[in-house]
Amino acid sequence: MLTDLFTIQQLAKEKEIENDLFTVFLQSQHAETIDNLVFELNEKITPQINCTTCGNCCKSLLINVTEEEADILSKYLNQTREVFDSNYLEKSTHLMVINKVPCHFLSDNQCTVYEHRFAGCREFPALHLPKFVKRLFTVFMHYERCPIIFNVVEALKQKTKFIP
Ligand code: SF4
Ligand code: SF4
Repeated sequence: MLTDLFTIQQLAKEKEIENDLFTVFLQSQHAETIDNLVFELNEKITPQINCTTCGNCCKSLLINVTEEEADILSKYLNQTREVFDSNYLEKSTHLMVINKVPCHFLSDNQCTVYEHRFAGCREFPALHLPKFVKRLFTVFMHYERCPIIFNVVEALKQKTKFIP
């Protein structure tokens, strides 16, 4: 299992054309069959990767926050929403995000608010969700960021007998 981020980033550059071809190949496959293969590979690969030695999603993603999530976490941190918002959030008309990358709540590669982390954090890398072939743009956007995605995609190439 490859987990070294530098190596993964190098390979991602080398495999750009291959991955474009794989995207086209996946779009021609039966979507449910691909979902089932991804679920199976995700269940096999995820337990073999230690997220606490990586933490790269928390170090590099801009995390969306809902009003409800901000209410819950501000209460947990004993802060008023006003203080919480000014400390941690950036707002635009339609969007609220954590105002710092890496995330404020990451310490020693661990989430200090794990029980109250946001839906985006809980879902990432989202390989347990259906419609994988509809999300290929996002999958490949995160392919070089997340060792779980990288390894699942590489194993999927084998499973589907993809020939670049
Ligand atoms: S989900 Fe992916 S990017 Fe995030 S810590 Fe785990 S392996 Fe790293
Ligand atoms: S809230 Fe926790 S899980 Fe979410 S990005 Fe921040 S440190 Fe990572």
